[in-house]
Amino acid sequence: MNKIDQLKQLRLEEESRLIDAESVEECARVVLDGLVNWSNRHVFSKFGGELSIEIPLGAPNAGVKYAAIDPPKPVVVIYLSMITDIYRDALTFPLISRQLVDETDTLTALHEEPPWNKFPFAFPSGVPELRPGHVHGDLSLACEMVAALHEERQQSKLDAIDVRCRFIMFELMLAWTFFHELGHVLQRHYRFRMAATNQDRVDVFLEWPESHETEDTADTGAIEPVQGDLAAQARELMADAEAMDLTLKYVHASGRLCFPTLYLLYCSVSCMYQRFYRKYEENLNITNHRHPHPALREQVSEAFLSWSMSDYLVARKLVPDREHAALVVTYITVRANLFVGLFRASRIEARDETSGLPSYMRLQTEAHRADMLRYQDTLMPYIESQMAQVRQWHLLPGNRMDEWLEMLRAHQRGRMGGGDAPPTDGEPPR
Ligand SMILES: [Zn+2]
Repeated sequence: MNKIDQLKQLRLEEESRLIDAESVEECARVVLDGLVNWSNRHVFSKFGGELSIEIPLGAPNAGVKYAAIDPPKPVVVIYLSMITDIYRDALTFPLISRQLVDETDTLTALHEEPPWNKFPFAFPSGVPELRPGHVHGDLSLACEMVAALHEERQQSKLDAIDVRCRFIMFELMLAWTFFHELGHVLQRHYRFRMAATNQDRVDVFLEWPESHETEDTADTGAIEPVQGDLAAQARELMADAEAMDLTLKYVHASGRLCFPTLYLLYCSVSCMYQRFYRKYEENLNITNHRHPHPALREQVSEAFLSWSMSDYLVARKLVPDREHAALVVTYITVRANLFVGLFRASRIEARDETSGLPSYMRLQTEAHRADMLRYQDTLMPYIESQMAQVRQWHLLPGNRMDEWLEMLRAHQRGRMGGGDAPPTDGEPPR
């Protein structure tokens, strides 16, 4: 059961109170303004439109609203409380990672197992080696100043690599959030919603109902989910795919795509999904939420990232063949799932010595694989039918949504023994 530890909850609330929201917003603006400029340069200026961003106060949430639909003038909305939550995770992840390495045998046990006992990329520290150049260019100076302060302080538990990890994860989680919302816009999801609600020319979409703050408990799962829910859930997977692809391209375009940043990208995306888990049960029954279960969302996004990275590593001749590429992405996936799963459990979940695997991690095991696949298969017809329309009106040329859909189909065909199975090396192990 996804049981919240009340003491841990109090600690999180106390941490939130200590965060200087103004400085966090300033830092976030550096990242988000760059993403807004990119979106306008590559998409909206071509249609005479303009994208902007708002960071309002209120319960953690994100969404999109439109000042106009033709020409498109979307406004991406990310609540400040969501940004400070992201900041809090980025702040603590390297610390907990270090603790896991120093105070438990988790990593040693992993690295003693073949093939990782002879794997050159396996890193023995909490986070991989990070250089100043791995940090966003406009945040690099601030990051190195903070890093120097920590290194001067004898009693500081952080070194420069931990500080860089904080900056990078904060940036990647923000970028992923922005690109998820942008995905809804690029795929023009308002058209599906407007058809259903008869709205005219104005659309406001928030990821979570505004009253969600009071609904912060697991739902019971609908036995018979309505079609509208399933279509909306399919669109969330589609927006996730766009977010995954654009975040990966974003890291690559800044010349920072390498093993250490790729590991942090997996960790960042996993942190984002696990953030939503407290609203869900510890099972993979179809829910009546607007979003599919976060464990399914993570599984599908990771599969796409791993599929993309396998191709990239081979094409760039960074590894000799797909078999080696599979080893690299598998190590990163296993390690990221392990560390983020334990990170979340240590921060939120009620646990004792008999608890075994943390709740979310149990959903990622083989025992839940059939349910995971059933959930995905249930959504496939809704993905197929909406993708047929999105393909005609997508705003960004060169998007990789067809590749994503082909990956899903290939995995499904491979499972059903229909031949033409996908390369299994692109799929993260469960
Ligand atoms: Zn969404």
